[in-house]
Amino acid sequence: MWLDDYDTPDFRERLAALWAEVAPLYRQLHAFVRGRLRARYGDSVVSRIGPIPAHLLGNMWAQTWGNIIDICKPYPEKKAADVSAQMKEAGYTPVRMFRLSEEFFTSLGLEPMPDTFWNLSVLERPADGRELVCHASAWDFCDQRDFRIKQCTVVSMDQLITVHHEMGHIQYYIQYKDLPMALRRGANSGFHEALGDTLALSVQTRKHLKKIGLLKEEKDDPEVDLNFLMLTALDKIAFLPFGYLIDKWRWDLFSNVTSPEDLNCAWWQLREELQGVKPPQPRSEADFDPGAKYHVPANTPYVRYFVARILQFQFHKALCQAAGEYDPQDSSRPLHQCDIYQSKEAGKLLSAMMRLGHSVPWPDALEAITGQRAMDASPLREYFRPLEEWLTKENERTGETVGWKSDGPVCTKTPEAT
Ligand SMILES: [Zn+2]
Repeated sequence: MWLDDYDTPDFRERLAALWAEVAPLYRQLHAFVRGRLRARYGDSVVSRIGPIPAHLLGNMWAQTWGNIIDICKPYPEKKAADVSAQMKEAGYTPVRMFRLSEEFFTSLGLEPMPDTFWNLSVLERPADGRELVCHASAWDFCDQRDFRIKQCTVVSMDQLITVHHEMGHIQYYIQYKDLPMALRRGANSGFHEALGDTLALSVQTRKHLKKIGLLKEEKDDPEVDLNFLMLTALDKIAFLPFGYLIDKWRWDLFSNVTSPEDLNCAWWQLREELQGVKPPQPRSEADFDPGAKYHVPANTPYVRYFVARILQFQFHKALCQAAGEYDPQDSSRPLHQCDIYQSKEAGKLLSAMMRLGHSVPWPDALEAITGQRAMDASPLREYFRPLEEWLTKENERTGETVGWKSDGPVCTKTPEAT
């Protein structure tokens, strides 16, 4: 039932193939990060060839690793492109972050937010202390005019990306609002998740951050540029196996491949196999670690985020080409530096795709924007190519083993005696 949304009989096999296509890049990143963590914490904590202890990656689920950028910068003495401090200095507020995002959409010729959005959304944690599910979300009230976001926004670059992500959902709702109710959905749910992220790929370029005054005008420095790509990779590439495995674990559970007695150990097996991470201490079936991820108790399918990570680079490449901002033959303008801001051509493609809602099979919607009918991971590889080349050389230079081998069982039926 969960896969019905994708309307593709062999969808699981296609996802496995996409994962295989991006896994070599993930393994290079993994090896490099493990090397830096080992230098920081020592061989007794981080082994040379084993999985990475998950609690060292700076995120509760080890799903994105941007929080450890300080120890992962290719050029530690140069800055990365996190502009959180500059945003605070410039007096940014949550509302201003949403206005900035709206302006990006309208610069492409897309729709501004209606009054209901500005009057009725919850854009900050309520000051009266009332309980709120702070996980950011975007809502279509299905009356063609009322659309809202709920987000406990704090002023940071990371959250600025989330703002664009949520605004992408709202823009999609607005674009397909005149379709019959049953068709007011994304082409598939991966499309819905990819939309705002696609725009954020432009917003977070150093070029764009300079345009909006968050970075000072200075000469391009290829070393700063690699630091920037690393920050993006710690988010987008580190996430790939995680985005894939949550549902892989649940599909096996739903189809009785995994028995209910092995819930937690099956989870850690996938974590080790796909992500190359291990728990901070031995786990057992007395624990239920997947339950710590919001989408599991909330019963929300998750593979859409993996799909979205692939699609957003396909979209980005097509839009950049339409905007005249990217030419694969021109090495002076790489894909990761492209900004589609103010391109009406890019906006037209986005609108043409979004207005279709769920009224056509998703390959038609994909074709409307990219000219391709199949999901393709090569634009993602293209975007990160300069970093992948650097990582490959660096891992060779430092003699890192690429890949990992289990260093023993991490999960047992019953708790280990301590
Ligand atoms: Zn979303």
